[in-house]
Amino acid sequence: MQIALTPTAIEAFERYYQELVAWNERINLTSIVDYEEVQTKHFLDSLVSLPLLAEELGASLPLPSLRLLDVGTGAGFPGVPLKLASPALQLTLMDGTQKKIAFLEHLVKVLGLDGVTLVHGRAEELGRTPQHREQYDIVAARAVAPLNTLAEYLLPLVRKGGLAVFYKGPSAPQEFMEARRAIKVLGGEAVRLAPVEVPFLSERRFILLVKKIAATPSLYPRGQGLARKRPIA
Ligand code: SAH
Repeated sequence: MQIALTPTAIEAFERYYQELVAWNERINLTSIVDYEEVQTKHFLDSLVSLPLLAEELGASLPLPSLRLLDVGTGAGFPGVPLKLASPALQLTLMDGTQKKIAFLEHLVKVLGLDGVTLVHGRAEELGRTPQHREQYDIVAARAVAPLNTLAEYLLPLVRKGGLAVFYKGPSAPQEFMEARRAIKVLGGEAVRLAPVEVPFLSERRFILLVKKIAATPSLYPRGQGLARKRPIA
């Protein structure tokens, strides 16, 4: 994958696996617990965007100290693997479920990570607060919502000139067609819809990179579940 991991990072991934499986017995974090499957479907899949990001930012790996937000991070994907592979990142993990945040608090402590902030809340609400709106260089999400809805969650949080990173499966081209207008309205411009290969994984995966070229109109993100119920069309 063209990604070098230090021995410290590899050790951290091992510990991450153990903590994920242990906590998963008490709170529902993931349906994937098999060792090899966690390596591929969670760890490698989370890392797959790194070479593309580096290329787009004109940076080399590991990435420099950029502010990266992971929306709907769940058990920490893709944010935590990205941080382990690029430790200088200033990572914010956001999730609407307090139990996930409790796990991540524990994880950050046992892995001894610094430069990680945990935020409990919904993206469409936090995207209207000055602490979070247009504050991040990179905003990423995996497995959170269809692209037209997800664009309204992510783009308000990206600073002008920054990037939104959407992790998507085989439906990506179709979802992209249905989200074109939403992306534009929200101040984004798609720069790349890249098919990516995750080692040992047969499913087709895509990374969509969207650049924030204009401020998001103050109307967005809309509340009351509108981003989900009535996506911008
Ligand atoms: N990104 C992780 C988890 C996906 S499950 C992964 O790829 O494994 C979806 C997660 O998104 C859940 O933890 C849920 O609580 C969170 N979520 C869904 N909608 C959200 C929203 N609008 N704001 C914040 N978190 C949200």
